[in-house]
Amino acid sequence: MNNEIKLIFDAISENEAFARVAVAAFMTPVNPTLEEIADVKTAVSEAVTNAIVHGYGDGPGKVTMYCALRDKRLHIEIMDTGRGIEDVEQAMEPLFTTGPGPERSGMGFSFMEAFMDELRVESKPGRGTRVVMEKTIAELPCACGED
Ligand code: ATP
Ligand code: MG
Repeated sequence: MNNEIKLIFDAISENEAFARVAVAAFMTPVNPTLEEIADVKTAVSEAVTNAIVHGYGDGPGKVTMYCALRDKRLHIEIMDTGRGIEDVEQAMEPLFTTGPGPERSGMGFSFMEAFMDELRVESKPGRGTRVVMEKTIAELPCACGED
């Protein structure tokens, strides 16, 4: 199965739910397990929330979600053109957070790393951030009588 989609949406919290549902629908054709779907949805929701909250500081902006399937390999990119990250290595450390407030625990990147096979973060201060994630989907034999 080869496929790709690109979605551009406003950086508002309502669209975090939209992005979760969209990626789940996108990966359905390769018969993921419920756990794989949950893992990918969580990773996408963390990356999109970061773009909205940190990239744009809850102000206006656009988030781009690019998804590609190459056989069983799922590739996801979440991009913003917001404020960017000064020190990516530090930002990716568990519990590191710039806040704001007690709502943030500094675990977003750790979850993305745990739930996906691969995580890369590219960022330029003042220019924006691109989060690249990959995961191989086990592809269970389907019960649809095809194989
Ligand atoms: P949590 O995700 O647990 O609510 P958090 O968002 O602070 O807390 P991470 O998602 O791990 O934790 O992100 C760590 C830090 O990296 C953030 O506090 C922020 O400073 C920076 N960061 C992450 N994504 C972006 C982004 N898209 N643009 C700018 N800064 C970012
Ligand atoms: Mg976060």
